[in-house]
Amino acid sequence: MTHAYDIAVVGAGMVGAALATGLAQDGFTVALIDRAPAPEFAPDAAPDIRVSALSAGSERYLQQLGAWPQITGMRATPYRRLAVWDQTPHPLSGLVPRKFTEVEFDATGLGTSHLGHIVENAVTQQALWQVAGATAGVTFFTGHGVSALTERQDKVTLALDNGTQVDANLVVGADGGQSKIRELAGIGVSRDQYAQQAMVLSVRYQGPVEDITWQGFYPSGPRAFLPLHSAGPEHPDESWASLVWYDSPEQLARLKAMPDSELLATIQKAFPATLPLLTHLDSKASFPIARQHASRYFSGRVVLAGDSAHTINPLAGQGVNLGFQDAQCLQTVLKEARRANQDLADPDRLAQYERQRRPANRRMMLTMDLFYHLFSNRIPPVHLLRNLGLGAARALPFARNRVARYAMGIDDQLPAVLTQLANRIPGLNQL
Ligand SMILES: Cc1cc2nc3c(=O)[nH]c(=O)nc-3n(C[C@H](O)[C@H](O)[C@H](O)COP(=O)(O)OP(=O)(O)OC[C@H]3O[C@@H](n4cnc5c(N)ncnc54)[C@H](O)[C@@H]3O)c2cc1C
Repeated sequence: MTHAYDIAVVGAGMVGAALATGLAQDGFTVALIDRAPAPEFAPDAAPDIRVSALSAGSERYLQQLGAWPQITGMRATPYRRLAVWDQTPHPLSGLVPRKFTEVEFDATGLGTSHLGHIVENAVTQQALWQVAGATAGVTFFTGHGVSALTERQDKVTLALDNGTQVDANLVVGADGGQSKIRELAGIGVSRDQYAQQAMVLSVRYQGPVEDITWQGFYPSGPRAFLPLHSAGPEHPDESWASLVWYDSPEQLARLKAMPDSELLATIQKAFPATLPLLTHLDSKASFPIARQHASRYFSGRVVLAGDSAHTINPLAGQGVNLGFQDAQCLQTVLKEARRANQDLADPDRLAQYERQRRPANRRMMLTMDLFYHLFSNRIPPVHLLRNLGLGAARALPFARNRVARYAMGIDDQLPAVLTQLANRIPGLNQL
């Protein structure tokens, strides 16, 4: 049986589910297709190991969609402070005062109540699925992936692997970094795998819920702390947190092979003394990290959004925030196409979307790479640059605030000091 829609969104992850909801709220008929079943959430269960730092901009977007009350009704932890510091010894250490290698942003100083929220991905996705499910115009197809795509003159036919066929005027590939839709549309990617991998751990610690996220940089890579919610009456005076440890794949394999008690003790020693006393390790997983950018954001009747178009180094946790910005931009462009009575796959309209989003996504990639290179490269001039960069950010309240506002997704302008530094890093101009 064939079903016909204005738009088929393939991938109901955070980006696809948000986009489908927004499009349907604007009156489009939308098929929302995901090979996975609905995400689960149990209030008493341990947190999802995948968490995201949702920016103030993403919070506003989720408010508009009507998903934010569901998110906060489940679990979301606001953070008011964000600290970044450098622990890498180098030949110039003695010359650069320590205060120039530390930056702390505080919501109060930025005239805002919080810098962002740490939210489990399953919570955001679940909330968006609830809102999408309650929005007339969204039809879910779950549990079966897309296996074929046939483009005709005025529509695309998608074949799901259970034999269902879905017709749409436009297909959005929101199916993640390994996008099948991107492959079926013949869109290539440029990809760079980083030498480091990221290990993510869900832990309980002694003490109240913290209001700070921090990241310390070490020669082998950064180590980060993201606060989560209280561990509840079963574990009084304990809270949950997500830790991230970037290191070589070999070192992470050694750490992952340790018994939990030994790994907890190793983390406690390896992380800064600021880390509260850890009491329990619930789960751990490691991920390769890569920078990837699609060569085009659209082809024919297929357009990409979120990780299928771009994946960035998760250092500052901006991946899903960029994806939400893609979704908002694409929704606006498609609304304009409909108002002008144009085909939703009009190449000029889709080019307008790519013209707006590609430079913004590339800018964030460059910023993440700038941090990555500055903090993982021990060549003295690069260290000097790094310290000058952070020093400038710290010493000048204006620059510091601008850096923070950009990282938080409040501003979409990259501070000039970062643009200048990015341009000095070799190999970053090919994206
Ligand atoms: C270690 C790590 C830490 C991160 N931390 C952060 C952070 O703090 N903040 C942040 O913003 N980002 C973070 N990110 C990035 C973030 O997780 C991604 O940017 C985000 O999940 C992308 O969302 P998406 O909806 O585009 O894709 P995905 O979340 O990958 O969703 C894709 C969806 O498509 C479905 N799908 C796939 N193939 C098919 C198919 N053939 N047919 C049908 N459905 C299909 C999948 O089931 C899935 O539901 C991190 C990433 C990593 C690796």
